[in-house]
Amino acid sequence: MDNHLRAIIEKKINRTMGNLQNNKMDAYYVPTAKDVVPLVQELCQEGETVTVGGSMTLFECGVIEHLKSGRYHYLDRYAPGADTMAIFRQAFTCDTYLMSANAITENGELYNVDGNGNRVAALMFGPKSVIVIAGWNKIVPDLEAARQRVRQIAAPANTTRLNTQTPCKVLGSCQDCHSDSRICCDYTVLGQQRIKGRVKVILVGEELGY
Ligand code: SF4
Repeated sequence: MDNHLRAIIEKKINRTMGNLQNNKMDAYYVPTAKDVVPLVQELCQEGETVTVGGSMTLFECGVIEHLKSGRYHYLDRYAPGADTMAIFRQAFTCDTYLMSANAITENGELYNVDGNGNRVAALMFGPKSVIVIAGWNKIVPDLEAARQRVRQIAAPANTTRLNTQTPCKVLGSCQDCHSDSRICCDYTVLGQQRIKGRVKVILVGEELGY
């Protein structure tokens, strides 16, 4: 990446980290995707029970492969034949839950929209620790930009990946559908936290996920 562009992005990241910390979340910065796993290894103890919310970012930065290394008791929702609903429920009592975010505002808020609600529920309550990993492309100025990011980018890209029968898959942006396959059902904003440091946000200086 061009050094001037990186300097601007790092300013945006620093601003966001400061406001996440004001909201009692821990905030970390790593320059590249390959720096994520070593940090996850520092934040998760060997033998912990861990599981994940659906995320392309976790695949792209090698976290999913790392969780399968045997270092952890990994509840693997992606394993062939996995009872995903049971794992979604077990997530509430796990030690560490890993996920990405649909958007992170520069004001230090996490914005997420779920279809099943399992991911946002575990983010808000249950696991002792939550690690949110996000590329700098997820940072937006405010909640309205976060909402637009989901409508214009995250949800259409996910419906395309999942091949769901929704209008955003066909037209490339949200049409406020009432499709049975709608993936936008539960809209959440995480602001200041009561338990300091329960939510840990790793911001990465590369584009990851959508
Ligand atoms: S509400 Fe429907 S059309 Fe809009 S992004 Fe979600 S699934 Fe797509």
